[in-house]
Amino acid sequence: MKLIDTHTHLYSDAFAEDRQEMVQRALEKGVQQFFLPAIDSETTQAMYDLEEQFPKEMHLMMGLHPTSVKENYREELQHVKDQFVQRDFCAVGEIGIDLYWDKSTLEIQQDAFREQIKLAKSKNLPIVIHCRDAFDEVFEVLEEENDEKLYGIFHCFTGNEEQANRALSYNMKLGIGGVVTFKNGKIDQFLENIPLEHIVLETDAPYLSPKPFRGKRNESSYVVYVAEKLSEIYNLPVEKIAEITTKNALETFKIYK
Ligand SMILES: [Zn+2]
Repeated sequence: MKLIDTHTHLYSDAFAEDRQEMVQRALEKGVQQFFLPAIDSETTQAMYDLEEQFPKEMHLMMGLHPTSVKENYREELQHVKDQFVQRDFCAVGEIGIDLYWDKSTLEIQQDAFREQIKLAKSKNLPIVIHCRDAFDEVFEVLEEENDEKLYGIFHCFTGNEEQANRALSYNMKLGIGGVVTFKNGKIDQFLENIPLEHIVLETDAPYLSPKPFRGKRNESSYVVYVAEKLSEIYNLPVEKIAEITTKNALETFKIYK
């Protein structure tokens, strides 16, 4: 069974003690490819270092995370653009709007989001969206930028069915992770109505561990638990869930193996 973790922060300090073993555990479970979202200039070097250790398995995104959009965000956006001058990335991410941590930066968050969508389109790349307490605000920007070049993944999707369909209308896949295994996660109640062709799997490690590890450090091998939950929801063998979601992920990131 081949699985893909489309959103994992494997370069995080949370894995400082056992990063190699943790990646090894995932590989042994069949998780063969890892897609690493950027946060800001502070994490860039750690991502490059991890890619050097696992050049075939790690795929790097570049972007400015909405919670890192502060007064210096222009400099941070320049850092993102500078990296693109030097090399290629698989996506612009993670980008978007987060009003859970800070509402006062909404305007500059929208500005940074918009600018990075334009960057992705100019490079024919997908975007990977982070959206927390901000569906209306995210959709507002997507509506403005909606054209045939706009596509990507709505990471850690936690909205309702209507919001899911709206995300699909902008050519987004839904990134489904540990939340789908939570009792109060809600998305398990309508997900079966969303065709599997629009779903990719993720962990968002080290955050949002699935049941039975909820509250503990998450890691990429746990994407298996997400696949198993989807197997229940869609009433399909877990191998079929793996096959379809892996294909979706590789197509979205234009990785051919
Ligand atoms: Zn993330």
